[in-house]
Amino acid sequence: MNDRADHLLSTLPSMTALLAHPEVRQWSEAVPGALVKTSLSAALQQFRDAILQGRLTSPVDIEDVIGVAEEELTRRSMPSLRRVINATGIVLHTGLGRAPLSAEAIEAIAETASGYCNLEFDLSTGHRGRRLSHVTERLAELTGAEAALVVNNNAAATYLILHVLAEGREVLVSRGQLVEIGGSFRLPQIMSAGGAILREVGTTNRTRAADYEAAATERTALVLRVHPSNYRVVGFSEEATLAELTSLARARGLLCVDDLGSGAIVDLTAHGLPPEPCVRDSIRTGADLVCFSGDKLFGGPQCGMIVGKRVIVDRLAAHPLMRALRVDKLTLAALEATLRHYADDGEALRSVPALAMLNAPLAELADRANDLAHRLQEAAPSERFLVGSDTTYAGGGAMPVVEFETVVVRWIPSFATASDAATRLRGAEVPVVARIRDDAVCFDLRTVRAADFDDLIAAVEGVVYDAAGEEDDDIDEDDGPPDARVRLPVL
Ligand SMILES: *Cc1c(COP(=O)(O)O)cnc(C)c1O
Repeated sequence: MNDRADHLLSTLPSMTALLAHPEVRQWSEAVPGALVKTSLSAALQQFRDAILQGRLTSPVDIEDVIGVAEEELTRRSMPSLRRVINATGIVLHTGLGRAPLSAEAIEAIAETASGYCNLEFDLSTGHRGRRLSHVTERLAELTGAEAALVVNNNAAATYLILHVLAEGREVLVSRGQLVEIGGSFRLPQIMSAGGAILREVGTTNRTRAADYEAAATERTALVLRVHPSNYRVVGFSEEATLAELTSLARARGLLCVDDLGSGAIVDLTAHGLPPEPCVRDSIRTGADLVCFSGDKLFGGPQCGMIVGKRVIVDRLAAHPLMRALRVDKLTLAALEATLRHYADDGEALRSVPALAMLNAPLAELADRANDLAHRLQEAAPSERFLVGSDTTYAGGGAMPVVEFETVVVRWIPSFATASDAATRLRGAEVPVVARIRDDAVCFDLRTVRAADFDDLIAAVEGVVYDAAGEEDDDIDEDDGPPDARVRLPVL
């Protein structure tokens, strides 16, 4: 280390001096002392690193260290997992937590979480009850299946099915259906983790029933159909139908499992929405088991649902793995509440938020967009906000490659690029995740609800004010109060 760096390091304030500083003593009244200390240490470390790497060449000012420590303190005091505003228009956005829950499901979680519940306790007999009894009957009834089972997610459902029913044996899957979903779920890997042997059938673009027929041997345990959730093989393509697979399986004494991924309960085409395979149809066609996610189109909490023939569901339920894959009481509370919304199609489309968003008429989105644009314009008159039409996707592996018509508020920031503004919006107190298209930040009204407006407007306002503050700094650095950024007049 050279003398210069040595000298600069000696100008770093001591922890004792920092803790004695009046500003820091004020923090200690509001937040735990340990948090103050770790924030100060982190700030000191940043200055030490900057000196050693030659990025800092002047003596350290204690006020600067306190400034950095305050940022650290703010960051560390905030929860890491936070509510964000989804302005992308993608209703089932995996990165943003997929399906939002209904008010009733949230209420059920709060009620169940705040005290004790009859999770595994039969209130009529006073004896031990079954955890899944709260939801399985309704789930089976709703899908037309004999029995139902719920596990942690659909990946767990697939894993359980393959492990229990096909360990050490072969599973036939079309080459056109060997999917990867979101990077971590790859069918061949789940298959080998479950101890089943993947037997690829047909080609990427064409697989016929005869291909399955030719591949079936005495080592084969089951035929698996996987819904291609996030892609489509188009053009010269063909897949065997589920009816062909179930009759082939029956003739050969094999099981037929349908992994629907998203899985619709309501026939969405009847309501003018793009088609998505219905769980009930797969059961009716004769699939032995159908599995799907709880937090995709179903619109409930994260879980994996398995419905089908009772003898097979019972085998899965009795397996020791169930203990490792079981869902908790909060999931069950939200799931039971969501199942109630499926009293009929109309009720489901109104009450399940994901379905209501997908089903929202364009006129309603346009009304809301006009309202939002108007309020944004009032809050930031120096900027321009325009209402326009656009397209988006359902997400969550539902209705892939189908573009949804939607309505957005477009903002082309006057002071920065759209991507720069979008980055700043993600740093807001309630972060806003927006879509960028044609150099504009787009707020998609399919996923931005009226209840989000105040926070979204505050985020935009904050970004606009901050930018104005920076401009002031550039023009006249020495004049004006040091905290001009927060004291700008309300525009
Ligand atoms: C999404 C999906 C899965 C994984 O479901 P998770 O609930 O995310 O575990 C499995 N298979 C298909 C076809 C899917 O679309």
